Amino acid sequence: MMTEMNVTETDSTVEAGPLGPDTAGSAIASTVALRLENIVRRYKEGNGTLDVLTGANLEIRSSELVALVAPSGAGKSTLLHMAGLLERPDSGEVYIGNRAAGKLGDPERTLMRRLEIGFVYQFHHLLPEFTALENIMLPQMLRGLTKAQASERAKQLLDYLKLGARASHRPAELSGGEQQRVAIARAVANVPKLILADEPTGNLDPKTAHYVFDALSALVRASGLSALIATHNMELAERMDRRITLRDGKVVEL
Ligand code: ADP
Repeated sequence: MMTEMNVTETDSTVEAGPLGPDTAGSAIASTVALRLENIVRRYKEGNGTLDVLTGANLEIRSSELVALVAPSGAGKSTLLHMAGLLERPDSGEVYIGNRAAGKLGDPERTLMRRLEIGFVYQFHHLLPEFTALENIMLPQMLRGLTKAQASERAKQLLDYLKLGARASHRPAELSGGEQQRVAIARAVANVPKLILADEPTGNLDPKTAHYVFDALSALVRASGLSALIATHNMELAERMDRRITLRDGKVVEL
């Protein structure tokens, strides 16, 4: 595996360009991509319960990048799991676009998640036996696109992220920053409404983190998506449109 030391990915910049049917600044710009309404989530803890979310409210509009900054254990991952329909709240409602997810069955939630939400994690979770290109093609083929269509979009995304020359590399042959950029391309491959990211640059050195964050935000903005990004990095958080935190299980603007 290449180390962060011998790559020069911080040398170039990522320019914005339209990459999906929705373009930033279009008529949909004022619509809501995600709404959390009075989300309550508690976990069993010994004989009692741990109240992680106690009535969390949040609205993210289309084309908005929001940073979620809070100490470890405050409930960031729990909030992202609620927003990403990975877990159900004990009460409250999650809207993706203007569609409420609460009353939907699991198959419908899975479909909604697959079509409308892209996930980026701290560790890339790319499939090791597939190339960078194939990793970006797979979610599109699951959605029903042909191999040729999926490959074309995957190439377009890799080129945009200045990874065209790495298309046939497997994850182990990529640097940490490159792996994370492929993971970002995979997350946006199906042109979701919303990107949810949990410490997407937490595993990278500061310079690479900066570059990867620029790539993520340029792509999100160029595609007219919205993003909720949990990060400990205040410098990166400052460059997003808005910053929120969690206090006593509720969302508070910073
Ligand atoms: P953060 O992402 O801000 O570090 P988390 O959302 O992961 O916080 O966790 C918030 C709290 O909920 C922590 O105290 C954690 O131990 C607890 N927690 C998270 N998931 C579970 C679970 N599945 N079962 C029990 N407790 C959990």
